[in-house]
Amino acid sequence: MSVPTGVEQRLQPVGREFNSLRRLQLKGLTMELCEHCGNEKEMYYKPWCPRCEKPDVRGGQVLNLIQALRYIEVNGYPGFKKRVWRNLLDMDLIRNDSMFSLDLPTDEHDRDSYEVDWLADLDTIRNVFRIQGDSVIMEVSW
Ligand SMILES: [Zn+2]
Repeated sequence: MSVPTGVEQRLQPVGREFNSLRRLQLKGLTMELCEHCGNEKEMYYKPWCPRCEKPDVRGGQVLNLIQALRYIEVNGYPGFKKRVWRNLLDMDLIRNDSMFSLDLPTDEHDRDSYEVDWLADLDTIRNVFRIQGDSVIMEVSW
């Protein structure tokens, strides 16, 4: 199918310049810089800085999964979110607007049944958020 010549001529001059301008406009509209670290905030329902705004463990036991993983990732653990997310998907635990209990085993006997790498990631979650006990309730929402 060919574009009528008149239309093609009107569209072509806009081309690449239009696209880069549009990107800038989109960025300008959505970008908000963190007042503490200067990095670009991310949208998670509202602008949120994954570097500075540590998610709360609500009631001592409920943690937002996406924010928790992203917070850990940008604070020194590259690839953390993707890796843990994939493991949780494999365990069929991730559904939008749901919660699940994530085991964070501390007992040596229990820990023997976990893969070393996965255990290290679970320990990171427990340590970063100072989780008391052997599990945390993860809230999943996007
Ligand atoms: Zn920040």
